Amino acid sequence: MKINDNFLKIQSSYLFSNIAKKVNAYTAANPDKPIIRLGIGDVTRPLAPACITAMHKAVDDMADEKTFMGYPPEYGHKWILKAIAENDYRARGVDIDESEIFLSDGAKSDCGNIGDILSVDNKVAVCDPVYPVYVDTNVMAGRSGDFVNGGWSNIYYMPCTAENNFLPSLPTEKVDIIYLCFPNNPTGMAITKTELKKWVDYANENGSLILFDSAYEAFITEDDVPHSIYEIEGAKTCAIEFRSFSKTAGFTGVRCGYTVVPHDLKADGTELNALWARRQATKFNGVSYITQRAAEAVYSEEGKKQIREIIAYYQNNAKVIYNGLKDCGFTVYGAKNSPYVWLKTPDNMGSWEFFDTLLNEIQVVGTPGEGFGPSGEGYFRLTAFGSAENTAAAVERIKNYFAK
Ligand SMILES: *Cc1c(COP(=O)(O)O)cnc(C)c1O
Repeated sequence: MKINDNFLKIQSSYLFSNIAKKVNAYTAANPDKPIIRLGIGDVTRPLAPACITAMHKAVDDMADEKTFMGYPPEYGHKWILKAIAENDYRARGVDIDESEIFLSDGAKSDCGNIGDILSVDNKVAVCDPVYPVYVDTNVMAGRSGDFVNGGWSNIYYMPCTAENNFLPSLPTEKVDIIYLCFPNNPTGMAITKTELKKWVDYANENGSLILFDSAYEAFITEDDVPHSIYEIEGAKTCAIEFRSFSKTAGFTGVRCGYTVVPHDLKADGTELNALWARRQATKFNGVSYITQRAAEAVYSEEGKKQIREIIAYYQNNAKVIYNGLKDCGFTVYGAKNSPYVWLKTPDNMGSWEFFDTLLNEIQVVGTPGEGFGPSGEGYFRLTAFGSAENTAAAVERIKNYFAK
């Protein structure tokens, strides 16, 4: 037998293992110095009470012969699909049919799995810096070419730096699949409707597909920033959208998300919706009943209110980090529509050099921008997902140290 040797090409995930190694070494040598972690991309607040109540009730349903549920429908129960269509789309003036929504165990899986229905011959474009899943899943599929000079030979990189306000430029060569994530991880920057329209037009004119990841839409505060790509005219013929309850409702450990594949999206007359339906029915067996009830509660009146409070808590952390750093002279980005603050390292320090300084001098852990791609060099990510106390304490440490 032979293995899929594309797996041998994948660059080892140097970023988070390297961070863990450095933090562990520091803690071992300095057990008396407590570390504050603002590097994680994981939530820390507990689930909204409305979700907990719904899950407890769903557990009881499973204990009774009359309400017991076996295999769930492959694409999600009707009631959750209806709640999504009404709250996430129709409430924003976007008409998405329930048959265009596929419930799943999260956006990460779907972002990777979508490649199953797309030819290996497609040319892929990604932003740089980038959420590593988009790149690694294309390497596994054999779409990447070879790793040379710090990049994949067959992947088109779109640098996002302060020079272009962290918005990629339209490709200068033809690309087939374009990954866009807005509000963005790691830069925390958002895209306006006007800017996103340019991408939709490009995709429709060139027959390209946009894979739009809107995992952070709940953090949007500005009116001209779209929550869904389908708020843009023409998007239904060129875009698939990935959504997640992870950052919206703290479901990182519960696992639930969904993908929208409009019926109008076709290649050579074939609906991608039909292919994705077939892919999911064959390789995925649906989201657990208990989880679907928790997701449904996200859209209840109580649930919405409780979740808005949790998001506001993180948004306040983001503001504390952003304003605190700005006050002490840092150049900072993001935060307004996102739980991420992206900062320019001072004095042209390298990303890792800045990481080492924060860890060794003030015991604050963040994420070096370079770990997300070459254009992240010279930048650094801090996240708003910590506790308010830790966030404030970390900002104080940074202020005290860098004000010197
Ligand atoms: C956190 C995150 C997701 C969510 O992934 P899940 O699998 O739904 O938890 C998706 N995309 C990006 C860019 C993320 O940072």
